[in-house]
Amino acid sequence: MSEKLTERKKMESELKTAIREDQLYLVYQPRFNLRSSKVNAVEALVRWQHPDRGNMMPDQFIPLAEETGLIINLSNWVIHKACSDALEKLPGLSVSVNISPVEFQASDLAERIKQILQDTGLEPTRLEIEVTENVTLSDPEKTCQTMKTLKQMGVRILIDDFGTGYASLSYLRKFHFDGLKLDKSFIFSLGDSQQNQSVVEKIIDLGKAYSMEVTAEGVETADQLSFLKENNCDEVQGYFLGKPVAIKDLNLTLING
Ligand code: C2E
Ligand code: MG
Ligand code: MG
Repeated sequence: MSEKLTERKKMESELKTAIREDQLYLVYQPRFNLRSSKVNAVEALVRWQHPDRGNMMPDQFIPLAEETGLIINLSNWVIHKACSDALEKLPGLSVSVNISPVEFQASDLAERIKQILQDTGLEPTRLEIEVTENVTLSDPEKTCQTMKTLKQMGVRILIDDFGTGYASLSYLRKFHFDGLKLDKSFIFSLGDSQQNQSVVEKIIDLGKAYSMEVTAEGVETADQLSFLKENNCDEVQGYFLGKPVAIKDLNLTLING
């Protein structure tokens, strides 16, 4: 128990250093729009190049960042980097960043984003934030207000990992998300049964009924892609179209043809 606690303390202090000393970096994954047949946006995903532990994935340090409050500094770094990369190196594309539900409670998220947009000069309409459904659970009034302010600025808001959390249909109506990202587990199981296909079809319809753009995550095969195309999914993302890579390795012309 005490060993675990010491280890946690050590990692917390290392994470603080990592944010300060640029040990974090971003990779980008293309989001392919099926209507325009082009990549219109990319998602920024954080990594930590740890001096001793090597390359670390978000699930190895985001939970700690959330528990310790370091998520605010980490996320400021991510949003700032993603906005300046979009402005300097991704002309015409939008960029999405992942925001933890705790950031809606523990900070003035709209104010932070406004400041970063001002500092970097990126047009707000080119920034999208991805939040999980669970964002709607605690203090829905504050969350709703923050989202309203962000949307008034022109920032778009997407629900991430849809289908794995606790969002109720009344929340979908109340929160006015711009887009819905269907969790990859639904896409992985498409080939297993007619029932799974039917569920995906209906979720696409549900998203559209609420005027949301629907993105399918975790597209790994040509069959999954053609099923989603046939069923009027708006956007796809997954290894079949492109894995998350360093910005210099994003080869959009290959995908866009
Ligand atoms: P997410 O936002 O749902 O991101 C998608 C995850 O699925 C990414 O994992 C991506 O690499 C992976 N993925 C994409 N396409 C495929 C596919 O075709 N097949 C499979 N098997 N996987 C695919 P990653 O990069 O490990 O990120 C995991 C989660 O960590 C993200 O899930 C997001 O919730 C969180 N995360 C990442 N970056 C940040 C960040 O900057 N801030 C916060 N708060 N969370 C972040
Ligand atoms: Mg995401
Ligand atoms: Mg997701």
